[in-house]
Amino acid sequence: MTRRTKIIATIGPASESPETLRAMVDAGMDVARIGLAHGSLEEALGRFHRVRQVAREAGKRVGTLVDLPGPKVRTASFGTGGVELIANTEVEIRVGDHRSTAEAVEVDYENLLHDMAGGDQVALGDGQVLLEIIDVGADKARARVLHGDMVHGRPGFRIPSDRLSLGTPTREDLRALDAFLDEGVDMVALSFVRSGHDVRRMGVEPHPTGPLVIAKIETRAAVDNLAGIIEASAGIMVARGDLGTECRIEETPHLQKQIIRECIAGGLPVITATQMLDSMVQASTPTRAEASDVANAVFDGSSAVMLSAETAIGAHPAATVGTMARIAQRADEEFDYVRWGESIRRLRMTDANAPKSITDAMTGAAANAANELNMAAIICISASGFTVRSMARFRPQTPILGFSTSDRTAHQLTLSWGVTPMLAQNRSSYEDRLADALGQAQKAGYIRSGDIVAVLAGMAQATDALRLVRID
Ligand code: PGA
Ligand code: MN
Repeated sequence: MTRRTKIIATIGPASESPETLRAMVDAGMDVARIGLAHGSLEEALGRFHRVRQVAREAGKRVGTLVDLPGPKVRTASFGTGGVELIANTEVEIRVGDHRSTAEAVEVDYENLLHDMAGGDQVALGDGQVLLEIIDVGADKARARVLHGDMVHGRPGFRIPSDRLSLGTPTREDLRALDAFLDEGVDMVALSFVRSGHDVRRMGVEPHPTGPLVIAKIETRAAVDNLAGIIEASAGIMVARGDLGTECRIEETPHLQKQIIRECIAGGLPVITATQMLDSMVQASTPTRAEASDVANAVFDGSSAVMLSAETAIGAHPAATVGTMARIAQRADEEFDYVRWGESIRRLRMTDANAPKSITDAMTGAAANAANELNMAAIICISASGFTVRSMARFRPQTPILGFSTSDRTAHQLTLSWGVTPMLAQNRSSYEDRLADALGQAQKAGYIRSGDIVAVLAGMAQATDALRLVRID
């Protein structure tokens, strides 16, 4: 069985050379994530072009995802040598961008004292250092170090998102977005989303004309407003890094499951992200717990699993992609397809808010038939990719071939579970489209004489034709 769960890898200094990118493509990278939290916009654009170039040379469709960082509050520098913040000591916090020490931390954000209150917990960097605010005065705040560690350079200063008056997307986000829209990026992720309104503020055209918009769920407000965010987005990321500092850590595994289920029920692809194979930043094999985490993310229903620091700054970017691909593929083999399909159907039927649509019923029926008849492929012919994403949510055991005449849609489908994106020829009649898709699928070796395949197509807005075909 081929791998169904998709793999996203973050491109950074450790992975931006054409040779490493090529090795990552060969190891199974489906989507390349280009972050803007570190480095310049020019660097990010350079990475984007290199990914496109390498994918072209490899003859593989690789999706591109630009990740807008949202509001970033940072401290003044602790110096390159670093400073140790010691647990149970008291530190002062004030506005400034001169320098930070173990006794006085300066933060480069004017509204700082306005956006904090006694009792708040503030994480530094990736959360290895945690401060608890004692009180906030007119020109400084006092805090106690709850968890101490070394801090270097200018770590992020994570004010709880429900206090932060800075919204997302920021002006810099929108500037970067414009630059990447000009380049035709396939997908855009937005950080620190709090509501559907934040997502709409990006103001992009609906996909496939615009990029596929992915909301990162990493604030408490986003968890509370999940339904509205799902409504405004085309995909969701369970951004466990920041989510784990905003919510209690014991909640994150359950939030992951809950967010995934709601997204899949709605037909949105969902990404499980952060620290999946974290020890591979250095080590050449993952911990056993990490291997289980990747497999369990697949069982939870993730459309894609993501690598961050592992490939951006890690010692073995391509090997890490390969390791993740093997774990995901093995988990795909064990996945309980029949039960998943049933539970999604039940979820759709019992959820009074779920819109009852023809596409739902058609794709659900196709998934059933595919499992029952042990079909070779489900062929979806779709303009925007809507039918294909709707199909993928039922997790048919049968491979899905997602045909579209739009190259952009095909690239956006790189994120969808179980889908091989294919470019369809422009044909006016249903019969001609069907013949083109079947011909291409046969030529590419996905189907052969004697196989039964399902073909789903939409003539107007919804999917309205399902045909079961035996290939002669
Ligand atoms: P980040 O988002 O890597 O941009 O912080 C993912 C996360 O928070 O998990
Ligand atoms: Mn984050």
